[in-house]
Amino acid sequence: MHFSDRAEQSFAAGHEVGAVARQLHPGGELIGFEGELSSALAETGHMIERPGDLTLFEATFQHGRVLVRSDVLSRRGGGWHLVEVKSATELKAHYLNDVAIQAWVIEGAGLPLKTIQLWHVDNSFVYPGGDDYRGLFVREDVTEPMMELMRQVPAWAARCQKALSGDEPEIAVGKQCHDPHDCPFLEYCEPAEAEYPVSILPYGGALIGRLQMEGYKDLRDVPQDRLRSERHLRVWRATKRGLAELDDEAARELAALPYPRYYLDFETVQFAVPVWPGTRPYEQLPFQWSCHIEDKEGRLEHREFLDTTGEAPMRRFAETLIDALGEAGPIMVYTSYERTVLTRLKKRFPDLGKQLAAILSRLFDLYPLAQDYYYHPDMRGSWSIKSVLPTIAPELDYGNLGEVRDGSSAQEAYRAIISPNPHRGWTASLPADLRAYCYRDTLALVEVARFFEGRRHTGGSTHGR
Ligand code: SF4
Repeated sequence: MHFSDRAEQSFAAGHEVGAVARQLHPGGELIGFEGELSSALAETGHMIERPGDLTLFEATFQHGRVLVRSDVLSRRGGGWHLVEVKSATELKAHYLNDVAIQAWVIEGAGLPLKTIQLWHVDNSFVYPGGDDYRGLFVREDVTEPMMELMRQVPAWAARCQKALSGDEPEIAVGKQCHDPHDCPFLEYCEPAEAEYPVSILPYGGALIGRLQMEGYKDLRDVPQDRLRSERHLRVWRATKRGLAELDDEAARELAALPYPRYYLDFETVQFAVPVWPGTRPYEQLPFQWSCHIEDKEGRLEHREFLDTTGEAPMRRFAETLIDALGEAGPIMVYTSYERTVLTRLKKRFPDLGKQLAAILSRLFDLYPLAQDYYYHPDMRGSWSIKSVLPTIAPELDYGNLGEVRDGSSAQEAYRAIISPNPHRGWTASLPADLRAYCYRDTLALVEVARFFEGRRHTGGSTHGR
């Protein structure tokens, strides 16, 4: 089992948030189903025949060949009230369409709705502890806008049903393929037509659109004078020649850094529903760090921290980090992620503010250095460490690690470890997998810095300028 699927994660967030919404409706009853949804339809029909107030979760209705399951449907004082729950932190336009379809089906099935609410997560909510999630949601009353939208539902449904009953429609890829979500059929509808599509130009924006309109598919076919920025020109040259480029300036900047050098990486976790008092929904909370320390002879020492207790890990994370990083020496990171996490820790623990500020002042980000001075055609427009590393140190391939191979799987592994109901069979190896992954991340930084400085001679063939 691997944990790298983002869709799975947002699905999990939806489940957590849905569970709290149910907790906030005590006495509600769940309409479950096994196999066929017809059993849920029948059970819903049976439940709404009951007299008096009631609350149903996942009540299921069908009308006009459209079937819906609603998050929370209640009857109070004879009036029906619908609540749709979203794990997002803001109200998005397509949520209204979603609710309109539900409301249209429910009303069509004979239940006039008195109020319709859309609940989404309030990311300014600070969890007070004790299972008290009363402030988790912003509760938007969308009864008014629904009236107009519901009138449009029959036409939407007819269009969908026509599309489903006919042959595959001939529709060109466009905005709809990414809005509101990336469509999973994109590769089917738009197979890659070029080995190095012009879309790999970093921050290419309007230029990419213009080049595509003019018929350029492969970056190597684009004339040099169409590109202006030094970064675009480097990507173009390296791709055309099939050879990496490394500017000597990278080595000059790194040579100025003293020893010991620290190579640092963090792993963080986010919960849609906060589990530790004093934390907010979706706050990035650090639970693991890895650090390789390099002396001037190139010897490496490794330090690390991983909290698997299930208690809030942030304080011990900060204290152990302060202890490991000493007083002086550059701290190499890759992107501004560690800076952001440290800045938040400084705010959370004012008594550690001075030490954390000292760490912040020593950070040296290798990411902009890589962006400015290095490119290998295999990076295909990306300077993420996962794109850069195989071109420099292919032996550090993340593919040969265990269950944890990227940030999102690290997060899922951590959640599994601290879960009150872990699956014993596979969680046993997860702490070791997490350690191996974070270790690999900081070893990767060591190798990247050595390569830029000319202290590593294996890796992709380069062409200096
Ligand atoms: S990628 Fe998806 S949205 Fe885009 S045309 Fe294909 S099926 Fe439609």
